[in-house]
Amino acid sequence: MGSSEDLLVVQEHDTRLDQLRHRRATVAEIAVVAGLRSELGELDGRRASVGGELEELRRREQRLEDEASSVQAKAADVERRLYDGSVVAHRELEDLQEDHRLLTARQGQLEEQAIELMEQAEPLSTALGELDAERNVLQQRLDQVESVLAGEWATIDAEIEVEEGARESAAGSVPERVLADYTSLRKRLGGIGAARLTGARCDGCHLEIPPAELDEVRRAAEDATVFCPQCGRILVR
Ligand SMILES: [Zn+2]
Repeated sequence: MGSSEDLLVVQEHDTRLDQLRHRRATVAEIAVVAGLRSELGELDGRRASVGGELEELRRREQRLEDEASSVQAKAADVERRLYDGSVVAHRELEDLQEDHRLLTARQGQLEEQAIELMEQAEPLSTALGELDAERNVLQQRLDQVESVLAGEWATIDAEIEVEEGARESAAGSVPERVLADYTSLRKRLGGIGAARLTGARCDGCHLEIPPAELDEVRRAAEDATVFCPQCGRILVR
C-alpha cells in the first residue's frame, strides 16, 4: 500500500509540474516581449531605409561639393592668368574672361544643386532622429519587460526545482514497472496515470466501478497493480 500511496504523491507532483511548466510557457510577458521585438524589427527596417536614402543624398551632395571646389580652383587659376601679366593678347584675354565667367557660373550651379540636396536631406535627417528616439523608448520598454519576465521565470524555475526534487524522492519508493505503466498512462490520458479509488468511484474518470469488477479490484493482492476497468488508470486503493 505504501508504494501505491507514493505513486499518488508522484502523480500530485507531476500534475503540479505540468501546471508550472504551462505557467512558464504562458507568462503574459512572453507575448509582450514578442510584440515589442517585432515592433523593433519593423522600426529597424524603416530606419535602414531612411538611413540609406539619407546616405545616398549625402554622397551625391559631397560629389557636387567636390566638383564645385575643383571648378573653383580652375576659375582661380584662370583669374590669376588674367591679371599676372603673362597674357597680353586682347583676343586671348577675352577668351580667358569668357572661361572665367563660364567656370564661375558652373561653380554656382553646382553649389545650388548641392544646397537643394541638403534641403532634401533635412526632413530625412529629422525622421531618422525621430525613429532613433522611438527606438530608444521601445528598447527601454523591452529591457524592462524582459527583466520582469526573467524574474517570473526564475520564480517558477525555483518552484519546478523543488517539485522535481520531491517527485524524485517519492518515485524512489515506487517499483520501476509501476512507474513505467504510470508514465505511459499519464502520456495517453491527459496527464493523469494514477487515481485513488474513493468508495466505488475512480477519481481519475469519476465513474462508478460496477460491483463485480469492484469486487475483483478489492480482492486483488495488496501489492498487485490494479487498473480502473473504465479508464485504465492505475487505481490506488
Ligand atoms: Zn477510471
